Amino acid sequence: MNLAKALRTALVGAVACASLTGGLALTERTASAAVKTFTASANLDGRTVKKVDIKVGKQRVSDMYPKGSSVSIVCQSPGEDYAGNNIWDLTTDGVWVPDKYVKTGSSGYVMGKCSIPKSYKAKADLNGRQKKGQDNNAPGAVVDKYKAGQSVKVTCQATAKGAIWDKTTDNLWVPDKYLKTGTDDFVQGLPRCDTDGVSAGGGGGDDSGSASNLRTPFDCGQSWTAKTYRKHRPQNAVDFQAPNAHGKNVRSSAPGTVVTVANRGSTSYGRYIVIDHGSGVRTLYAHLSSQNVRKGQRVKTGTIIGKVGNTGGSSGPHLHYEQIKNGTPVRVKLNGLAIAYYGATGIKSSTGC
Ligand SMILES: [Zn+2]
Repeated sequence: MNLAKALRTALVGAVACASLTGGLALTERTASAAVKTFTASANLDGRTVKKVDIKVGKQRVSDMYPKGSSVSIVCQSPGEDYAGNNIWDLTTDGVWVPDKYVKTGSSGYVMGKCSIPKSYKAKADLNGRQKKGQDNNAPGAVVDKYKAGQSVKVTCQATAKGAIWDKTTDNLWVPDKYLKTGTDDFVQGLPRCDTDGVSAGGGGGDDSGSASNLRTPFDCGQSWTAKTYRKHRPQNAVDFQAPNAHGKNVRSSAPGTVVTVANRGSTSYGRYIVIDHGSGVRTLYAHLSSQNVRKGQRVKTGTIIGKVGNTGGSSGPHLHYEQIKNGTPVRVKLNGLAIAYYGATGIKSSTGC
């Protein structure tokens, strides 16, 4: 493999934390035939309906995909006309964006049409609830609406009380854990019913859009400031800063396998590590002063993988950190909590406490 190909194939983040150099974008991908990743040509709101004029709120997240950021698409569907194009793209976050502003290279369909509703068999007799999160016998619940083994048609999904709920074609709600969807996560290709738990830039709900609960990558009790800024490369990355940061332990955010231990010298990430947590979720740790793990090594939540440093394109000791979903850096959540974009969030690590 020649160098150019190797670079395209490998992780090629041109990170410029303090010294912006621009250049290549992160293009690492995991194999996922059903999903294609494109670039937003404008700041894009995420919508739960394929309609243009709706208020920002329950059905619309403002600037969910900033101009130039990656948008991972599962399928496409016709909807309300938006600036001369009626195609809407359903993202891996379960929201719709107007295809007009996604650089797919075509004004027509480039993906399969979305298949909604989707049918899943009930694992048990289920009462249909009027609202998501309601108890089995809440007022208005339709007793044994869905029998065990019966197909239940789901139109959208949402979070309530820390769990995923499915809305059926009968306009009733059932807990997702009682339907055989084939995943404990949100189903790719079903939209969200509302924006509860949807955060700009990806992930959703209490599970960060994955099975992994990604933790603050530092020692128990340490205080750090998580800084985000629009000119960061990639934009959803976080720079963790703290007094006397140099040499502090960097810990794995979740169990996984180390897939990259590399050194870019005085450029980009410098010494960095990538850990694969499964389900298309990876975390990346850069500018390290030392790397304490090897490629292929299994790690647990809180395993010390290296030390904070100032290697690569960095102007002071800090940890450059990314959470990556299906090859796309997403907005960082720590222990299920969204951090501020764009700004500074104070974090006290509870990892390994
Ligand atoms: Zn950075």
